Amino acid sequence: MTIQAVVFDWGGTLTPWHNVDLQELWMGYAEIYDPANAEHLAETLNHGEQARWSRQFETNGEVGTGILDELFHEAGVDTSSPLHFEALERYLSGWDPHTYTDPDAVELLEGLRGMGIKTAVLSNTMWPRRHHESVLERDGVLHLFDYLLFTSETPAGKPHKSVFADVLYNLDVDPKNAAFVGDRLFDDIHGAQSIGMKGIWIPHSNIPASQSTDLGITPDATIQRLGEVMDVVAGWSV
Ligand SMILES: [Mg+2]
Repeated sequence: MTIQAVVFDWGGTLTPWHNVDLQELWMGYAEIYDPANAEHLAETLNHGEQARWSRQFETNGEVGTGILDELFHEAGVDTSSPLHFEALERYLSGWDPHTYTDPDAVELLEGLRGMGIKTAVLSNTMWPRRHHESVLERDGVLHLFDYLLFTSETPAGKPHKSVFADVLYNLDVDPKNAAFVGDRLFDDIHGAQSIGMKGIWIPHSNIPASQSTDLGITPDATIQRLGEVMDVVAGWSV
């Protein structure tokens, strides 16, 4: 067997996990959009976001999280207003300290590509592609991926087979020759294994109980740092 592609999860995998105060991040938005009712709006947006993650989890990814705009519409936000754009910018920049790419990433991605292995990102996210791309570009890794799939652009999300299949179709690699690297046993490892990919687990993230399960999922490999992907993949490619 030869590994021809390695697909990475983003949050908690390419970007080390941080425990963040989601309500506080939404307050950054709400204080600009509707200062008089900021607390209430932030709570509505936070609850709406959590409900979407739960729905995605409970439907095995068949129903994805959708996009931020849907969340804003549910909360009664006018997404065409200049105030909204200003508030959204504040919200996304509030995430900045938590989005830095793992220091191992550049060497790992260059090493994999040097071995002729294709690389991709598959991320469950409500954020727009342009924001994700700007974060990856800021950290000098955007050009090191052959394909990026953000579930804000697909009806389904991980662990649904369709999103893994989408990535591999675009990379033109058979699942049995592909590995997935992720921090979530259910979304990432179970999802990847369900279409025949190998799953490499990085077990450092504090996944909310409402978004995790103990289904007896066994990763094909467990690593302690991102850079160890290289040795695992090299070991599978002999
Ligand atoms: Mg993750």
